Amino acid sequence: MVTAAPGEERSPALALVNTRRLSAGGEVDDLASPGGAAAWLRQHSLPAVPMGADDLGRLTGLRAAVRELLAALADDRAPQVTAVETVNAAARADAAAPQLTWPGGPRREWRSTRPGHLDEVLAALARDAIDVVSGDLGALVRPCEAHGCVRFFLREHARRRWCSTTCGDRVRAARHQRLVVEQRQASSG
Ligand SMILES: [Zn+2]
Repeated sequence: MVTAAPGEERSPALALVNTRRLSAGGEVDDLASPGGAAAWLRQHSLPAVPMGADDLGRLTGLRAAVRELLAALADDRAPQVTAVETVNAAARADAAAPQLTWPGGPRREWRSTRPGHLDEVLAALARDAIDVVSGDLGALVRPCEAHGCVRFFLREHARRRWCSTTCGDRVRAARHQRLVVEQRQASSG
């Protein structure tokens, strides 16, 4: 189990993007199979809807679109039009209405018109993506700066540059290694 990047607990759309990542052994995809996708949905308190290969394609298509939105935000550019369209289409797939619940304080929940269907899941993720990129959290979206890492995170502390301590340690180790080599070259030259 990989440590979640900062912000994933606040944004399932960010967590969705980070299901594709690189490790020492190559690319890892938590959504590579319907079983993997179902497990991921459960872990993120999303309805564990039954999924076939086509459904998986819709979920990973949304993931690619949200990734493009986050990348555009971080690069301060406009995203590809198709990415915006994909996210909007997913949000429209369920005409869910906000509902107020009040045990233990006011809380907004969404009442789905497509309960138990993949549309419910895609729309929930798309709504979150729209909230994040168009809201206050948008300014915090950053790609991990560690070489070979493709995860995004929310920079809740001004100095954070990496998605995890693993990435931070890796960068520091590489920098130290470089320094040792340079010192060796300097003393031998
Ligand atoms: Zn990283």
